Amino acid sequence: MTAPEQAVREAPPSPGTETPAEETPTVARPTPPLTVAVKRRVLGASSRLGLLGNVRDSAWRQRRLLILCYHSISIDDEHEWSGTYSMSPAVLESRLRMLRDGRYNVLPLDEAVRRLYEGTLPPRSVALTFDDGMFDFHARAWPLLQQFGFPATVYLTTYYSDYNKPIFGLLCSYVLWRARVRMPEPDVTSLFGTPMRWRLSDAAGRARAHREILAHADRERLTLPERTALAERLAELLGEDYEAIRAKRLLTVMTREEAAEVARGGVDVQLHTHRHRTPNDHALFLREITDNRERIEQIRDGVARHFCYPSGIYRAEFLPWLREAGVTTATTCDPGLASPRSEPLLLPRLVDTSLLSPLDVEGWMTGMSAFFMPRKASAHVARSQSLADA
Ligand SMILES: [Zn+2]
Repeated sequence: MTAPEQAVREAPPSPGTETPAEETPTVARPTPPLTVAVKRRVLGASSRLGLLGNVRDSAWRQRRLLILCYHSISIDDEHEWSGTYSMSPAVLESRLRMLRDGRYNVLPLDEAVRRLYEGTLPPRSVALTFDDGMFDFHARAWPLLQQFGFPATVYLTTYYSDYNKPIFGLLCSYVLWRARVRMPEPDVTSLFGTPMRWRLSDAAGRARAHREILAHADRERLTLPERTALAERLAELLGEDYEAIRAKRLLTVMTREEAAEVARGGVDVQLHTHRHRTPNDHALFLREITDNRERIEQIRDGVARHFCYPSGIYRAEFLPWLREAGVTTATTCDPGLASPRSEPLLLPRLVDTSLLSPLDVEGWMTGMSAFFMPRKASAHVARSQSLADA
């Protein structure tokens, strides 16, 4: 019953189903909102005055844990396509160097969370997490982590370990970006059967094309193999070599064997649901955890009890369901530092992307940026209650 293509008519959502916010080198970046600009000025001034170091070494910071989140570390040019989903190995290496040079204590997630609630964290605590379990973790991130001697957790979505092809939504977005200069206005009538032409020369046109192809796949209730076939046809139409992308394992999750290899090497493989989804139905939700955990138990020793919400989406009713499933911690994508008062099933986490400057990241590592967050955003319990009320 593990052949997903036989099990479902409608394909499950996948990592990056939401359109990744790609960056376009040919288009000037919009001016950051005033709040970001002001924050950067304050951070810059704090850095010059030595205040960042004071916050980093404070008792306040020592009671807190920064959990960093990464997705893809590029094998080829993926970081140029999406600076939010993918980061170059050089940028990741610079982040790891910042952690080492700033004398941060990078702890395994399990130990970090235990010590957070015991009140025994060492100064400057950080935990590193990688979502989805992409092959590029194995190829790019893991060697760097080993070089720096840092532990890490990988939240693995196991369905895509078994169905080991480039993730449909990500791949479509990527090939649309790749074709932007060579085929700025392709005629895609053959894909849809109705006259249609896309504009790929700018980010808005590519985002629209991406939405249209995802909507088409949903509307036609395409299975995963049918989606893969559609992606192959799209790549061919745009003059991209699908087989080359597949051979390089771009935008593809680790196989079970690869995940087992990193687990044997000390990487902590944890829960991210089997099919990268959190159904609102109690039984289906629990099944996602059970299916995910069963496969992860074949990959690593011990029971996986740490969870990460796919796409950072959570609802108040998920908390009792996670407790029922024996999950002890769950991480969100809500930026912040975890404190002993944080709900363990709604731990804040900083999604580190190529779009963050070294100063932005230093602001979070030291803890200074937590002071810029609106109080509401860090009041996770209140937020979950308000979701329950909704
Ligand atoms: Zn994910």
